[in-house]
Amino acid sequence: MDHLLREWGVLVVGSRVDRADEELIPDSNDHFKALPGNVAGKYYVTEACDGCAYCALDAPDNFSFDYATNTYFVSKQPQNTGELEMVLEAIDDCPLDAIAAYKDTDLQES
Ligand code: SF4
Repeated sequence: MDHLLREWGVLVVGSRVDRADEELIPDSNDHFKALPGNVAGKYYVTEACDGCAYCALDAPDNFSFDYATNTYFVSKQPQNTGELEMVLEAIDDCPLDAIAAYKDTDLQES
């Protein structure tokens, strides 16, 4: 995580960001595929999404609605600490644990 944040030039000031990979990303995300509309990057919405829109309320700049599938998707990866905090809040608030994150090692391989 620190590696990715350094790439973005983000100053990590809170512990919430540090524990994102370990605690905020539910294991249940492993069973669902990423929706095709997600932009490339660490965070993505999975097929578990039911379109409830909580994520877009938390992070309106990062999640958008797909009218074809009635789901939300990551339309913009977080670009700064403020957006990252909002995306992590969306992960916390998603009632279906439908927001996931690739491990940094996965991103380096792709
Ligand atoms: S909060 Fe979760 S279930 Fe609701 S729209 Fe966002 S990703 Fe989908």
